[in-house]
Amino acid sequence: MAADGPQNLRIGALYPDLLNIYADRGNLMVLARRCRWRGLECEITDVGLGEPLDPGRFDLLYLGGGQDADQRRCGEELAGEKGAALREASAAGKVILAVCGGYQLLGSSYVLDGESVAGARVLDLHTVREDGPRLIGNVAIEVDLPGAGGPRVLAGFENHGGRTVLGADQEPLGRVLRGYGNDGRSGFEGARTGNTIGTYLHGPLLPGNSWFADWLISTALGGLALAPLDDALEEEAHRAAQVAAGLTPGR
Ligand code: GLN
Repeated sequence: MAADGPQNLRIGALYPDLLNIYADRGNLMVLARRCRWRGLECEITDVGLGEPLDPGRFDLLYLGGGQDADQRRCGEELAGEKGAALREASAAGKVILAVCGGYQLLGSSYVLDGESVAGARVLDLHTVREDGPRLIGNVAIEVDLPGAGGPRVLAGFENHGGRTVLGADQEPLGRVLRGYGNDGRSGFEGARTGNTIGTYLHGPLLPGNSWFADWLISTALGGLALAPLDDALEEEAHRAAQVAAGLTPGR
């Protein structure tokens, strides 16, 4: 087993069997590969239903997207001790990345069919399933993350029935350039508080946005400077995701 330490990225994957649509687990593979290609260790530990979450054991926590029914089962737990552990991790500056269904579960509630699925209350937001169509398609957003060297684009794919409304003081993750984002109206996509990030972007997200994978790794390791990699293929994937969303990226 790898020794604990700043060169060892410890990832906790929450509910990997329930929250993993659109191959969201691929995000974990990207994080692990990009660490290992640089000689950094990366351990991924699954934390499923009924398993306690010790926030001190991890540098980065991950939740993928999910179906409504599976979200219900996770929400029951996240409303209790596991949600408290997530809030503790967030307050301690750990990186948390949550995609779509996982993002919705970081809020206070997801209301659908007259029922309210509770969330972890890590981010100040709530989600409502409206009568309108699902919000589906390629999406591109502009984000301005601390230490990322200025505004950058994230591109991916969204498919959600829920509309997410941010609390008055909740920062979005970014601004919609193409697609729907949180609710198709506000112009906001995702939410961010410190190093806790929720987004609707699948793809999976990280293979097409490797710069963001590196931001997550570096931030989770306390701002560690990462050696550059040969990213020719990853840059092509990033370009293709932007083009699919209707942008014309520069070379
Ligand atoms: N079940 C949620 C919704 O439809 C999230 C879907 C997802 O993770 N893609 O809004």
